[in-house]
Amino acid sequence: MTPLRFIIVGGGLGGLAAAHCLGRAGHNVFVFESASRIGDVGAGIQVSPNLSRLLIKWGLGEDLRKASVKPQAITFRRYETGHRVGWTKWGETMDRDYGAPYYHVHRADLLDMLFKLSSPYMTLFLKSRVVSLDPDLCQVTLESGQKFRADVILGADGVKSMVRAVVVGGPDRPMRTGDAAYRAIIPTSEMRKDSDLKPLVDHPEMTGWIGPGRHIMGYCIRGGLEYNLVLLHPDRGSSGEAYDMPGSVQRMKADFEGWEPRVQKLLELVSTTLIWPLFDRDPLARWVHPAGKLALLGDACHPMLPYRAQGAAMAVEDAAVLGVLFSHVTSRHQIQPLLHAYQALRHSRTTRTQLEARQNQTIFHLPDGREQAARDQSMREGMEDALR
Ligand code: FAD
Repeated sequence: MTPLRFIIVGGGLGGLAAAHCLGRAGHNVFVFESASRIGDVGAGIQVSPNLSRLLIKWGLGEDLRKASVKPQAITFRRYETGHRVGWTKWGETMDRDYGAPYYHVHRADLLDMLFKLSSPYMTLFLKSRVVSLDPDLCQVTLESGQKFRADVILGADGVKSMVRAVVVGGPDRPMRTGDAAYRAIIPTSEMRKDSDLKPLVDHPEMTGWIGPGRHIMGYCIRGGLEYNLVLLHPDRGSSGEAYDMPGSVQRMKADFEGWEPRVQKLLELVSTTLIWPLFDRDPLARWVHPAGKLALLGDACHPMLPYRAQGAAMAVEDAAVLGVLFSHVTSRHQIQPLLHAYQALRHSRTTRTQLEARQNQTIFHLPDGREQAARDQSMREGMEDALR
């Protein structure tokens, strides 16, 4: 094995997973993160079996189990009546069918787990924004003016990636999707006081309320202590681009006026909310710079609407594939072919997932009418089959 020097730009979920996989494979990993600490916003995240399988393999099974909730089913409801239109059993069925559990976790807890996992394998530079990079020299320049060189640079700098523009070879801005997400967390102790909301805590499921142009996803996290709400709605003029912009609770309530009583009760329990404009990009033809030492991963490469709950899962899968491919390097000449092999192995899966997430935007947000009735009918039939 020839140990290589890797620079990873970005210490988010994908960057830290890559640091772990490449460091454990014997390489020297340097992570440059613009934030002053490794941390995430107050919001939940769905950990589907393709993601939990990797985390368990890496030894995080027990931590993950303790920090999460295992939803027993997913239920879809009509927005204005709350009537159930779809139901699919999850719980142990997920373990049986996919070989690993489906979990709901707090984003900060997941990031913390990946941070602890990757720490022994990386040198981390915080407050270290990469402002430019030279793909031929394989060199990054920080805001401070400091320069660092490596054998390989990986851009894991998220949906607004600056590394991506270098790989693409020109300006390349993310697109607004027309949607934004309010995020809110409610203590379940408050929900238990209300007989309409208590079942959402006592029988943890993922509940999706779907309506014209909007939908809500709700689920328990942190061993059932908190309830996470994601409220997707038309992005009307959120001016900033950050993830953690405070939103208006009043505006959020107005956005979901007329939705069923349980939704109103949940919103009454929300004291603060974040607003998170949603960005997307078209699938990218080239993940590897022609100089052959620079590649992208995670949202920098294939960002997607959260409507398949797969963005983080795809980022961590990218990291796992890179770790396996670079585990038997014997010469620097292998770098370019290995980066191309990485793209070849991942491209069709991530592209399909990106496009499915877009398709769900249309399906979830259908206006009331013929198509919506047909969608609900087919969900109802699926549910009746499952309950038979
Ligand atoms: P990021 O998490 O964005 O990390 C990028 C990092 O790079 C950040 O730490 C940033 O500070 C740093 N950085 C940026 N620029 C620079 C620079 N120039 N120099 C140095 N550092 C830099 N995915 C799921 O799998 N399941 C879900 O349930 C789910 N729900 C979601 C809900 C919402 C509302 C949204 C918006 C997304 C959701 N996702 C979900 C997607 C998931 O959050 C992302 O796909 C995931 O965070 C991508 O990880 P990443 O490491 O590629 O990028």
